[in-house]
Parts: sequence; C-alpha cells; structure tokens
Amino acid sequence: MADQLMDETTKQIILSAEPGLVISGAGLSVASGLPTFRGAGGLYADEPPPFLEYNYFLQHPEESWDGFIKLHDDLSSEVKPNKAHEAIVRLEEMGIIGFIITQNIDGFQQEAGSRNVIELHGSYSRVRCIECRHAIELKDYDELKNPNLRRCKQCSGLCKPDVTLFNEQIDESIVNASMSALHCCGFIVLIGTSAQVYPARHFIEMAKAARKPVININLESSGSLADYEILGKCEEILPQLVEEFQA
Ligand SMILES: [Zn+2]
Repeated sequence: MADQLMDETTKQIILSAEPGLVISGAGLSVASGLPTFRGAGGLYADEPPPFLEYNYFLQHPEESWDGFIKLHDDLSSEVKPNKAHEAIVRLEEMGIIGFIITQNIDGFQQEAGSRNVIELHGSYSRVRCIECRHAIELKDYDELKNPNLRRCKQCSGLCKPDVTLFNEQIDESIVNASMSALHCCGFIVLIGTSAQVYPARHFIEMAKAARKPVININLESSGSLADYEILGKCEEILPQLVEEFQA
C-alpha cells in the first residue's frame, strides 16, 4: 500500500463525484516524441516563428503555408499516442473521466480512442476556411501539401490548418462546449500542462470558484492552483492510477 500514488481520501472524492474533466497540454505528448513548444528543450526557445501569428498569416498566406508544412514535417516522424493517452481512454471507459479538453493539436487523444475530446486549439488533421468556416478532413497529413487546399472551394476564402494561431480568436462553439463540460464535471485533472495560458487558465479559475477539486499531474507543481498534486511523468503516473482504480 505504501506505493499507492493516490491517497484513499482523494480516491473516494473522485469515485463519489460526477465524472471528471481532463485539461491536457504538451507534457502529455512528450513521451510520443513531440517537443513542447516552450520551455527547456522546447521547439521555440524564445518567440514562436512569425507564421504562427494570425495577422502574419493574413498578410503572407503563402509563406505561412510553407511554414505550416515545414513544422508538420519536423513533428511528424513516426509519432503516435503514448501510454498516458491510453490510460486516459481507460479512465473514460471506467466512467471516472467524462470529458477531455486538450490544448494539443496532435490528435493523439482521439487516435488513442477517446470520444469526448474538445480540441481547444484545433487540429492539424483538418483545413478550414477563415471566411465561411467550411472544413475539410485530411485523410493523411501529407495532403497538407496539396496547394488546392489553400483556397476554399465554396467561397474562395483563405484556408489554413484548423489550428488556432497566436492572436487568433478561439471558435465560439469550442468555448461553449468547454463551458458545458466544465459545468457538468465533478472535478478537474490537469495533465501535462502548467495551465498558464488562457482560456485553460480561466476554466480552472471557474472550476475553483465552483468548488470543484483540481488535481495536477505534471512534472512541475502548479503552485496554489491545484488541491492535490502527483508530480512526475504522466506516462508513468496515469497507467498506475488506472491500476489503483481497478483494484
Ligand atoms: Zn469558404
């Protein structure tokens, strides 16, 4: 019993509450071989490249598209979901987790088998028109290289990968879906995110105001944000928690 990650009291709080809401970030996909965007060893040590900025895209769509494709090529060398994504699917199947809001754009959580995933910052697996919002699902990521996808077939507006760029507004339907998940959930689990970036930060503040417990699973402490923390690698912690809840 000494090796239990989660104490009995916290475990009982979780088991007696409505299903939880996971808010995940880049730390979840590190074990898949994806670098985090910021921080030590991150993809962008300082500033993100200009093509990830929404206004730059509007002014220089062709250069931005070249950047999107290069970024995709840099990231997509045989990466796939890891044990942490799979453990979240198990917790969903067990009814412990009800919803997942991910800040990641890799699509791994759905690929692992999760159903109720809200992609807060979109996904590289679609291309969307910025004018009429018409979206095209890509069969595989190499389709991004098809130049015909850069203009909308319906309205000839500019299209871009369906990810939220810096200084771009998050789609209202996504914010609304997040709010209703937040409203329904019994508790929040932060996984692999420092949760400093809005709107994720805002969601957590709202959960705290509604007195929903916040659990943090990450390499780093969230300070006073979480009520309960398990620090370490999420790909090691989450499979062990699945076992503890099965016991
Ligand atoms: Zn369009």
